[in-house]
Amino acid sequence: MTKAPNISFEFFPPKNIQACFSLFETVEAFQGMDPTFVSVTYGAGGTTRELTHDAVSLLNKEYGWNVAAHLTCVNATKEETLAIAKSYKEVGVNEIVALRGDPPKGAGKFTPAEGGFSNSVELITALKETGDFKIRVGAYPDPHPEAADENADVSWLKQKFEAGADSAITQFFFEPENFFRFRDRCDRAGITGQLIPGILPITGWKGIQRFAASCGTPIPISYEAAFEHSSDHHQLSIDLCTKLCEKLLAEGIEDLHFYTLNRPTLTKAVCANLGVI
Ligand code: FAD
Repeated sequence: MTKAPNISFEFFPPKNIQACFSLFETVEAFQGMDPTFVSVTYGAGGTTRELTHDAVSLLNKEYGWNVAAHLTCVNATKEETLAIAKSYKEVGVNEIVALRGDPPKGAGKFTPAEGGFSNSVELITALKETGDFKIRVGAYPDPHPEAADENADVSWLKQKFEAGADSAITQFFFEPENFFRFRDRCDRAGITGQLIPGILPITGWKGIQRFAASCGTPIPISYEAAFEHSSDHHQLSIDLCTKLCEKLLAEGIEDLHFYTLNRPTLTKAVCANLGVI
């Protein structure tokens, strides 16, 4: 049996007070599991910003977790974006997941805000210059929808590391071989920074098909057949996700980042299967 992995969890910030309860139920469910870090996603909309900040601060202070706050370039000037980073530093949060972010729904292409960062490398460079943060970034084992080809993601990731990124968390994927090929391409490009696989247990078969398509993540044909014929999707998701993680661990991966979607049950079951207590 392989060694139990180091784990980390991604949470959504609450959009309103009601959602705060759901976030903290999720967080409570992971008590005692000792993640390396937890991360909190970032939406560019104004109203959730304060709740996001409070959630990040609370997870750090009350739960003692190492929190990485996500930050994007969307809908803010450079000054505003860096002020958000500074506000995290002031409450003791020293890690940022630095991203370009998606264009608003229907907008098609990403357009920088007036006076805002144009891309993730600019944001990483500016955060690095503050000297205040460990910087994590996104990486794409299956090509990002905007990538010119699969090597474009690798050369862009290299620029992110050169700008000061300390590690990269991947988009979720279902084909371990795609991750290994990506890792090989990164090796060949001279990338030495850590790549942490992003793991998404499937909480709903219909929803994941839409979501994966929008991210450019292929779903194996074997998954389609399995979900079609299974009467227990919950157990099937646990089994498929456990198998994916085991294949990664067997090839030397030591850290896994779980996209929890604030629904802890599947992630907890997979972690238990992997020997994470
Ligand atoms: P980048 O890596 O900067 O760009 C994506 C790809 O596009 C590159 O790999 C490259 O192929 C191409 N590209 C982009 N710009 C250039 C350029 N100037 N030159 C050449 N190639 C370029 N979204 C949110 O809104 N909030 C979140 O909290 C959030 N968290 C995320 C966490 C992780 C771990 C990941 C992987 C994604 C997350 N996202 C989040 C989604 C993310 O914002 C989108 O995938 C977005 O489209 C790309 O952001 P990025 O910083 O990873 O992009």
